[in-house]
Amino acid sequence: MEQKLQTLRTKLKDVSNLERAAEVLAWDQQVNMPSGGVAARAEQLATLQTLAHELFTRDEVGLLLEDLAGADWPAASDEAALIKVTRREYDHARKLTPELVAQMSRTFSLGQQVWEQAKHEANFAPFQGTLEKIVDLNIQVAEAYGYETCIYDALLDLFEPGMKTAQVNTVFDELKATLVPLVQTISERVDLVDDSLLKQNYPVGAQWDFGLEVLQAIGFDLRRGRQDKSTHPFTISFSVNDVRLTTRLTENSFPSSLFSTLHEGGHGMYEQNVAVHFDGTPLMGGTSLGVHESQSRLWENVLGRSYEFWQFYYPQLQACFPAQLGQATLDNFYRAINKVEPSLVRVEADEVTYNLHIFLRFELEQELLAGRLKVADLPAAWNAKMQSYLGLTPPHDGLGVLQDIHWSGGLMGYFPTYTLGNVMSCQFYNQTLHDIPDLKAQFQRGEFGALLAWFRQHIHQHGRKFTANELIQQITGADGLDAQPYLTYIKQKFGQIYGV
Ligand code: ZN
Repeated sequence: MEQKLQTLRTKLKDVSNLERAAEVLAWDQQVNMPSGGVAARAEQLATLQTLAHELFTRDEVGLLLEDLAGADWPAASDEAALIKVTRREYDHARKLTPELVAQMSRTFSLGQQVWEQAKHEANFAPFQGTLEKIVDLNIQVAEAYGYETCIYDALLDLFEPGMKTAQVNTVFDELKATLVPLVQTISERVDLVDDSLLKQNYPVGAQWDFGLEVLQAIGFDLRRGRQDKSTHPFTISFSVNDVRLTTRLTENSFPSSLFSTLHEGGHGMYEQNVAVHFDGTPLMGGTSLGVHESQSRLWENVLGRSYEFWQFYYPQLQACFPAQLGQATLDNFYRAINKVEPSLVRVEADEVTYNLHIFLRFELEQELLAGRLKVADLPAAWNAKMQSYLGLTPPHDGLGVLQDIHWSGGLMGYFPTYTLGNVMSCQFYNQTLHDIPDLKAQFQRGEFGALLAWFRQHIHQHGRKFTANELIQQITGADGLDAQPYLTYIKQKFGQIYGV
């Protein structure tokens, strides 16, 4: 059996190498590539992804998995997890024909360029045909994978293995019951917090330097990773020893760069701290997007927008930007970076209204996939939900339905994981506060090593060995998702800031 396991590992390594090479090309497309390269790059990616798919789905891999599943591996062993997770991926991959995989790769790669142009023109019409193809491909994928009653389950499972749409809907309903009225209450008090100090001119070079210093201080290892600039910040890893982040720099908005660095740093540290022997296997990387977001949001929001964090960093930030912040108190700054205000754009949204942007997308995706909403009617449906959740109507599609990159890249079933990440971040954080009683005092001293070590031990090192539900159970004892810790955190923090 050891010999067969070794043979499987060798085959998986080849698949992984092709996939990681495709990731390098995808990273390059976002960070360096001139726009003229797009057609050739789409072909290159399609070739690599088709080859990886062909290698992985060979009969011999299935036979090896069958033999290995028959052996008596200890239940919690890495071997048992490798066989189980590889089996899940294999069964998924076998259900897609090579033609469908190649068609998806090309459509999604070109889709991003069509979307970018449409967004630039603030006009949905040129993107409509492409999005129709993308929705249709997603339906084909979901049908190929199969599902019991809810088509959305088949796609959600790709990003959040084991999670069901009904489970997400239950948690979201609980969140809505508190967050929607809270946003309305705070909307009547937006003037209580003045964030104009953040909208001054902050030279981008100094923003970059400050962000990079904080990134290293929280524990991102620059010997095994790097940060670059891109329009849409993201994290991608080629191995645990080569993890790439990007951030965006905006001169007249200080927080967007630093908080995107903290956010992507949270993703990056997860990837860097997976057990090295999982590299090149399906156990490499984060276990689900929700758990990934629990990490990024914890470093960005729970830590990065906390009073304790800025008790340490604010004097340094003032020294970096004396003209902009010299006269502003820590309290003013803390309130400014936590201002809640309904706005049109998800990635610029505050911690409280953010989730409302997700509810909207989650509901529209379910409608599209179930065939109850036509792509042609999507902009109007978007605007109606924006009005009902946030009381705003986008002036044009660029600030509405075209704002996100996800659909153009073929990603559907992905959006709810952002809010799941918020929910999980507080479930995990409550446990860290219990296990490390002086955690907040450590933040006041600029010490983050104990927090990172806790995450490394309980979450990061396991890679994809356990599902989100399993991790939550192991760490907190709760039976899966629980909205209450997050709601308590939000009510306490913003109740104090807004006096509600
Ligand atoms: Zn993220």
